[in-house]
Amino acid sequence: HVHVVGNACVDTIFRVGRFPAAGETLNASSYADGLGGKGANQAVAAARTGAAVTFWTALGKDRAGAWIRSRLDRELSDLEAIEFDLPSDRSTIVIGAGGENFIVSGVACSEAFDPIAQTALADRIASGDIVVCQGNLRGAAIDACLRAAQENGARTVLNASPIDAAALPDFGLAQVLVVNQSEAKALTGQDDMAAAADALAAKGAETVVITLGAEGCLALGPDQGGSFRLPAPRVEALDTSGAGDVFCGCLAGGFAKGMSVAPGLTFALAAAAIAVTRPGTLISCPSASEMAALIDQ
Ligand code: ADP
Repeated sequence: HVHVVGNACVDTIFRVGRFPAAGETLNASSYADGLGGKGANQAVAAARTGAAVTFWTALGKDRAGAWIRSRLDRELSDLEAIEFDLPSDRSTIVIGAGGENFIVSGVACSEAFDPIAQTALADRIASGDIVVCQGNLRGAAIDACLRAAQENGARTVLNASPIDAAALPDFGLAQVLVVNQSEAKALTGQDDMAAAADALAAKGAETVVITLGAEGCLALGPDQGGSFRLPAPRVEALDTSGAGDVFCGCLAGGFAKGMSVAPGLTFALAAAAIAVTRPGTLISCPSASEMAALIDQ
């Protein structure tokens, strides 16, 4: 069983020909709301692998919260969403003509969410389960989840993204730590990714995975005997947003289906390569039948 613990939000995406100057009002050429949040994206990806998934998240008692819940209910059979008297998390994403963007996020629910203190998560984690966290909750709340997972004999996957340098989770609680290249560099100061993986392993993570975009990923851990690289399938990338979330959700789903690290990474690379050929974040994630075809390969 996979427990994904993290944020869910409404992403409002505005497309503009150019960015407005300070004080200027500009009409968007198009705009739409979508389900977002790294937690939600990873839970949906994991569920589409066919693994049994519970998503633990926090919503506001507002229309956005009801909307997020209805969207998640379509994808997940087990949603454990606590409700706060706070505005639901949301992001405004403005995308310019060249694909450049800026993002402003409101994260009241993620900041208030302490899953171990506020939900039944600790009682529901069983031996052999996989617990997946990202960096959107407070570091102490993430640590408590990972610690409860370890105490109950579950495997922990930590995607340390985004990074809050002031409140990092304890990497020693991560059996599998997943970061992208810029995060690996920010966390270690290393430009060389093999050196960065060594430095992250020295912080206590058992297995370190650094995603390398079109180059695939680099992994270092006890199963491997030294670091090794796995290439990504060569594809025509159209939109890489959310690719890291597909990667992490599929890695967790693969573990739940009995894969060890290297086969799990190969599966995650294949799923993420499909996602980058399509526009959008969550809607670009491979469907359940596409996942099944990848697993059968
Ligand atoms: P993030 O999206 O978090 O910044 P990456 O850019 O490393 O992280 O992408 C995450 C994963 O998505 C990669 O490890 C790879 O599997 C897949 N991916 C990203 N870009 C491409 C690409 N151009 N071609 C194939 N796979 C890609």
